[in-house]
Parts: sequence; structure tokens; C-alpha cells
Amino acid sequence: MPLTLPKTFAFSQASLQSYENCPRRFWLAYVERLSWPAMEAGPYDEQERLMRLGGQFHQLVERAEVGVPTDLLAVDLGYPLDGWFESYLRHRPADLPRESVEVERVLSAPLAAGSGRYRLAARYDLIAVGGQGEGRRAVIVDWKTNKRVTRRSSLQLRMQTRVYPYVLVEASAGMPWGPLAPEQVEMRYWFTAAPAEPVAFRYSSALHAENRARFEQILTEILSRERESDFAKVPDTEENRRRFCSYCIYRSRCNRGIEAGEFEEYDEEAFAEEDLESALEFTLEEVQELAF
Ligand code: SF4
Repeated sequence: MPLTLPKTFAFSQASLQSYENCPRRFWLAYVERLSWPAMEAGPYDEQERLMRLGGQFHQLVERAEVGVPTDLLAVDLGYPLDGWFESYLRHRPADLPRESVEVERVLSAPLAAGSGRYRLAARYDLIAVGGQGEGRRAVIVDWKTNKRVTRRSSLQLRMQTRVYPYVLVEASAGMPWGPLAPEQVEMRYWFTAAPAEPVAFRYSSALHAENRARFEQILTEILSRERESDFAKVPDTEENRRRFCSYCIYRSRCNRGIEAGEFEEYDEEAFAEEDLESALEFTLEEVQELAF
């Protein structure tokens, strides 16, 4: 019997990235929905602190974007939020369209696999749409508070870089700003670690078709599997243990080590992104609100 996912399940960049990194992790996290006590990285407090600060920064920016006076927001922020917010105020990209700006918006698009119909959902930090005719464009901005800037070559391979523009193009027809062509869309990553040097990716019809085919192929593959043993663990190599397993909450269950990896060596390019995004999984209410 093929895999059955809960009716409310929406695929996301985090779950697809999880499957790409390690199919077993997808099974444990999204099918069995297992929590497991192993710490992801030691010292745990430091990881938790940085995640909390990242969440606070996103909230601050959200408030600033909806018009709360920034001098009120900047009061008593403390380190490092004060510096991050200052960077945002000085280096918020000046060329963003102004006509329509959406913050913390969840959008979704249908995905077909065999006879099943699923949703692919994305939560956007900021979508700015504007301009007329040939100058019409949409910029997706993702604020990142990682300690280091992620290399362009790694960002390019990341599921987020595929999923966000794809869902925006597919969902746009139902939005107030109307349909967008892939060529009008840009995905931009902005880093507190290098606020004047965002990393941008132009989208295109060719990429859109490639992404659709890729998502449908991954879905078909996932849905054709049935049980835990069909979802292979990432091969047991020293590099995979270092990059993936040592920061994975399932490592003791998988016999891939007991000790958490050192936080200072946490490879954000490999895994952390997915974990941070997992903390932002969609609520049931949000999933029900997604336009089916
Ligand atoms: S511990 Fe390693 S093999 Fe097991 S789920 Fe995590 S990444 Fe995959």
C-alpha cells in the first residue's frame, strides 16, 4: 500500500530538504512525527539562544515593515539585536517595489503525484510586488541571522531557492496583485552577517518547469514508499555523520552516535536551515486556510 500522509499535510521546503538530505529523517520527522530527546548541537543553550534571537529579529522587521515607528522598536534591544536591527535600517534593499508589500505571508500551490493531490506551502518573510508592463516585478526577501553568510553555490542548491519562487508564481493569480510570470520574480537572501551584500537569484520559465518536474518526481518517490525501511538512512560516511547525523535529533535511534556535534562547527549550509525552518511548521489553522 502506498504511503498515506495526513490530510492536513502540506509539503514545504523544510520537508523536501529533509528528504533530500536523508530520506529516513523525512520518515521520522514527517510521517511518524517523532520527537526524540537527543540534543541537536551542544551546547544546547547557545543554539536555543540564537534561534530565539532569530525569531525576535524577524518579529522586529515584520513590525517595521507594517509601519510601527522604528525609533520605538529600537528601544532597549540589547546585543546582538541592536546591531542587526541597525543593519536592517541601513541596508534594507532600496530597490524593492513599493506597490504591494506582504510580510510573514503563507502561500501554497497544488502539486500532483499519481492520483493524489497535495499542497506545497511556503512562509515568506517579505514579498514586494510593483511596477507596470515590462517593469513589473516581485522580489521575495528572506532575512537570515546565521553567524556566517551562506555561499551562493549552496543557496542555489537549496530547496528554498526552488520552492519560494515556484509557490509565488503558482499562487499569484489568486492574490490582489494578480498573476506573475516566472521572469518577473527574484529570490533574495539578506544576511545580518553581510547586510550590504544580499544574494539574489532570478527566476525563469525554464526553472519553473524544471522545479515542477522535480517536486512531482520527489512526491511520486515518497508516496511510492510504504514503511520505515523504504526510507534509507543517509550513507554512513564520516562526512555524512559530521554534516548531518551529529546534529540530527534521531542519531541515537539510528545508531549514528550519542554526542551532539559542537555548535561552533554546526554546518548551517548543510542542515541547520532545515531545522530552523522546522520550528516554523505551519499550524493546522494555517493549513486549513490555504486555498484548496
Ligand atoms: S541520524 Fe543520520 S541517518 Fe538518522 S535520520 Fe538523522 S541524518 Fe538520517
